[in-house]
Amino acid sequence: MKKIEGSIAAVTGAGSGIGRASALALAAEGARVAVTDLNPASARETAELITARGGEAQSFAMDVSDPGHVREALANIQHGLGNPSVLVNNAGIAVGGYFLDTSLESWQKIMSINLMGVVHCCQAFLPVMVLAGRPGHVVNIASMLGYTPMRGVTAYCATKFGVLGFSESLRAELGDHAIGVSAICPGMIRTNIISAGILESSELDVEAKRSEIDALYERRNYPPAKVARAVVSAIRRNRAVVPVTPEAWAAYYLKRWMPGVVGWLARKELV
Ligand code: NAD
Repeated sequence: MKKIEGSIAAVTGAGSGIGRASALALAAEGARVAVTDLNPASARETAELITARGGEAQSFAMDVSDPGHVREALANIQHGLGNPSVLVNNAGIAVGGYFLDTSLESWQKIMSINLMGVVHCCQAFLPVMVLAGRPGHVVNIASMLGYTPMRGVTAYCATKFGVLGFSESLRAELGDHAIGVSAICPGMIRTNIISAGILESSELDVEAKRSEIDALYERRNYPPAKVARAVVSAIRRNRAVVPVTPEAWAAYYLKRWMPGVVGWLARKELV
């Protein structure tokens, strides 16, 4: 999709981190942005940031885990801004902990947001985008953990492997409708994902572990704005899979050329 300017772009989970940065970047490209989030106050804050910079945005409450709420939010977006031609499925949470420590409740929660949330939004938005008959684009924020196994994040990996497979298959279907699909696969990005996430352990002090991981992300200091740049470029150039950060690229090529090393690394206590 060459022309972002003048399009209507909906971003999920846009009240924080990568979603907020993507909403700001799309607005800077001239898109009119539907800023959506589970937390309406943070969505409003992002929309205000956009308008303060001379862009156009409106905020909407949207819980991606609830298909009814997604349909309702889409109707509000259509009423407030018009029909979106860009959808950025960004909303997501982290669940950390070994499989044996991860509760079924956490599995259900992360599946309903990270994987089914993407499906719910595509199911609601895509008929509108296809019917419009104009070029469009779906961006799914996956992760380098969408192609890299890692101990301690089995539930998160399961959702992101799902998002990547879904994105690649959907791309094959939507090409007929001039709608591109990109999966963005970031490495470690400094956002609220760890502080807002679920961490379960039968052995560790989970709050001490959370602070340790959060500090690691702080030290890594890779800003969400760089992921947002990849989102914009993926839309323009219709890229299929886009690793972001050096570690995400390294894992991408290791998986192809040395899958045994990826399996070996997955067993290491890296974080
Ligand atoms: P974040 O916690 O800063 O932002 C996530 C946003 O999603 C929040 O605003 C939150 O309110 C919203 N959200 C949570 N549940 C929701 C729901 N049910 N409906 C709608 N919105 C909901 O985290 P982030 O790092 O910016 O994460 C954004 C995406 O990027 C996620 O899909 C995450 O898995 C992915 N990702 C993050 C990293 C990283 O290192 N931060 C790396 C790879 C991929």
